[in-house]
Amino acid sequence: MTENNPQATSPHAAANASSVAAGKLDAAAPSCAHAPEASGVFGEGGQVVAIIGYGTAGVNAAIALRRAGYRGTIRAFSDTDTLPYSPILTSYYVGGEKAYEECFPWTAAELAELAVEVVPRSPVVRLDPQAHELVTAQGKTYSFDKCLVSVGARPTTVGFPRECGYEPLVLRTLDNARRMKAAFESPACKRVLVSGASMIALKSVEAALNCGLEVSLVGMNDHILDFSALPQTAKRFERGLAAQGVQMRFGQTIASVTVREGEHRKLEVAFSGGDVELFDEIVVAHGVRSDFNFIPEGSLKIDRALVVDQFMHTSSPDVFAAGDAAQALELVSGKPCVLGIWKTAALQGACAGEAMAAELAGRAPSDEAAYKGAIMTNTIAVNGTLFISAGVAQATDGQRVEIRETDTMTVACIFEPNEQGAERLVGFNIASDVDEPGGIAYDTGAMLSLRIEAECRR
Ligand SMILES: Cc1cc2nc3c(=O)[nH]c(=O)nc-3n(C[C@H](O)[C@H](O)[C@H](O)COP(=O)(O)OP(=O)(O)OC[C@H]3O[C@@H](n4cnc5c(N)ncnc54)[C@H](O)[C@@H]3O)c2cc1C
Repeated sequence: MTENNPQATSPHAAANASSVAAGKLDAAAPSCAHAPEASGVFGEGGQVVAIIGYGTAGVNAAIALRRAGYRGTIRAFSDTDTLPYSPILTSYYVGGEKAYEECFPWTAAELAELAVEVVPRSPVVRLDPQAHELVTAQGKTYSFDKCLVSVGARPTTVGFPRECGYEPLVLRTLDNARRMKAAFESPACKRVLVSGASMIALKSVEAALNCGLEVSLVGMNDHILDFSALPQTAKRFERGLAAQGVQMRFGQTIASVTVREGEHRKLEVAFSGGDVELFDEIVVAHGVRSDFNFIPEGSLKIDRALVVDQFMHTSSPDVFAAGDAAQALELVSGKPCVLGIWKTAALQGACAGEAMAAELAGRAPSDEAAYKGAIMTNTIAVNGTLFISAGVAQATDGQRVEIRETDTMTVACIFEPNEQGAERLVGFNIASDVDEPGGIAYDTGAMLSLRIEAECRR
């Protein structure tokens, strides 16, 4: 499995993740407040920036604030007691490719340099943008001058028959991963069903295969990666999965689950196509959605996520949003969109941090600091079977699809007419039977991604 490199956006690119002592947050007061690249300092008069959700968007906002010279309080509200972790690495932890300690892109020492006052195990349950206040689950109220909402997203199990009494496995947080790992490593676990055909479903498939389990997958649409791939590339990817022993059902869903107690509990699954099979565990990967229950209805503009401008302001001037919780500019469509990509979350967090710093210093954020937008990108490999995509994934009316097949690779490019009467590349997908770092599939993917982005920025 490959992914966008989370460490590229960590405070120090060469962060040694394994040196994180048990990955635990130190809730004590921050140790120092040295800004890495400050050009003039401000914020020592009692100003407070609140960060709700301390993942990559939150950490990168704190880095940008300190870099801009802000010396006031940064208070990060976390719903866990671990250091900020990478959700990307959770499947590798489950599958045994990474140790628990390696799931943390920043070391405790690097984080301490940011002098962020972390409030651990304190999910925010209410945000009042007008009063500039928030409330934690413990009932404690905190005020702020500026606030960043960077709560990421949570898996949904909608469509799974929850009334069956079995709580399906999901993958996002480290707690999710710990539960999945324990389930997969149980001697009684032999057969796993993964429901869903998305990237997260495939990450779960790979983790289960790496735990030596028999894996089935069920997807409601006609092919794998239903929202990211064209049928032609999906077919090649499916062949690669089948060669690894993954059984696949498409155009079907889980109709019902019956829990059969016995020496080893079994889950009897009836599929909508009529088959009935027994499994030991079920993973549900039916998509993610941010949980904005803590935001009073009507107080901030929410579409698929919090709607933001080019400096990550929400509809309330002192509240910003970044990462999977924000709907920001997607370049191909020119519209706001949630991309769900680590690097984008980091860039948006940094943009919000810089804008907050400028405003706290009494200036308007500079045009250079504006978020420049991004295109959707996906890279996933399941034990040697590789898929790469960028830009739009599905061709619509007026767009042209060009397919190129070689012995090892299928490349599908999507073009649409541009204003000059020529065509511009708006998306591609590649499925490759070979996952070789620096190989032709990666080169082709990089080249096509650059072309899409260049044409968007023209
Ligand atoms: C299995 C998996 C694989 C992935 N693979 C890739 C990949 O290959 N490439 C890629 O680019 N992206 C990948 N992603 C997506 C990537 O992880 C996210 O886009 C990125 O982590 C988003 O960062 P964020 O800071 O917005 O949110 P998060 O990293 O989710 O951080 C948000 C934090 O806020 C916490 N929080 C939530 N609600 C509250 C609250 N009310 N109060 C306090 N804290 C709260 C959350 O628990 C979390 O710790 C993957 C995700 C998963 C789950």
